[in-house]
Amino acid sequence: MRVDVVTLFPEEFGKTLGYGVVGRAIDRRVLELRCWNPRDFASDERGTVDDRPFGGGPGMVLATEPLRQCLAAIRSDGGTATTALLAPDGKRFDQEAARIMSQRDRLVLVCGRYEGIDERLVAAEMDEAWSVGDYVLSGGELPAAIVVDAVARLLPGVLGKAASAVEDSFFDGLLDCPHYTRPEHGDFGDVPPVLLSGHHEQVRRWRLKQSLGRTWQRRPDLLRRRRMSKEERELLAQFIEEYMAGQTGRADEEAR
Ligand code: SAM
Repeated sequence: MRVDVVTLFPEEFGKTLGYGVVGRAIDRRVLELRCWNPRDFASDERGTVDDRPFGGGPGMVLATEPLRQCLAAIRSDGGTATTALLAPDGKRFDQEAARIMSQRDRLVLVCGRYEGIDERLVAAEMDEAWSVGDYVLSGGELPAAIVVDAVARLLPGVLGKAASAVEDSFFDGLLDCPHYTRPEHGDFGDVPPVLLSGHHEQVRRWRLKQSLGRTWQRRPDLLRRRRMSKEERELLAQFIEEYMAGQTGRADEEAR
């Protein structure tokens, strides 16, 4: 997959993407990342890339012409691609959006700066807009890096074990189960015995139960959208029963 990133800070963008999973995707040429700087398309010697907003106000707006020319250059270098703007008022980026993007051959990510980009360019040049959350960052670079990382994990052959992404939170609409490593027994608690049993089916059921339970506790909105199988309903009922019993036990202890 090829991702072209439009950014005023190409030397900064992607520094964190050079390591680990995404770094491996780039090394293996499963992912090609190219940065383009609108400043290289500015018409004056100073490389001006901001402009005053019509109507006044404190902030600046990304200048239209360098951005348009930058996007035209990207298009003439390799054909059509979905162009996605990073914007706080975009659609919420989630695992499903990452999955859809990971099936494309090419993607252009546009990082805004200042107050953003001219609304006419949004209409004319952007196919979609994505937000990483209900807060405002100073630029689209961090959001674009989030998108690239989430998408890269889903590209074939990128994760060590093919199953890893499948077991991640959100992949199948549930949060991930808890994970444990050595020591088996510590002054901070014991590893759940089932994980030491070597019984694959019991481990699978325990993990599914924990995923369902954790989603019920922390993200009930995800469960409301889910069509649960009979096994999932039973496991969640068990989890809730055990959880409630634990709560009652704790309340009794406190009352004593
Ligand atoms: N004036 C804009 C507003 O209030 O919606 C904020 C502009 S922000 C300072 C500059 C750029 O950062 C935006 O154009 C966008 O590219 C990026 N950005 C900031 N927050 C973001 C978010 N939550 N998701 C995606 N992009 C974001």
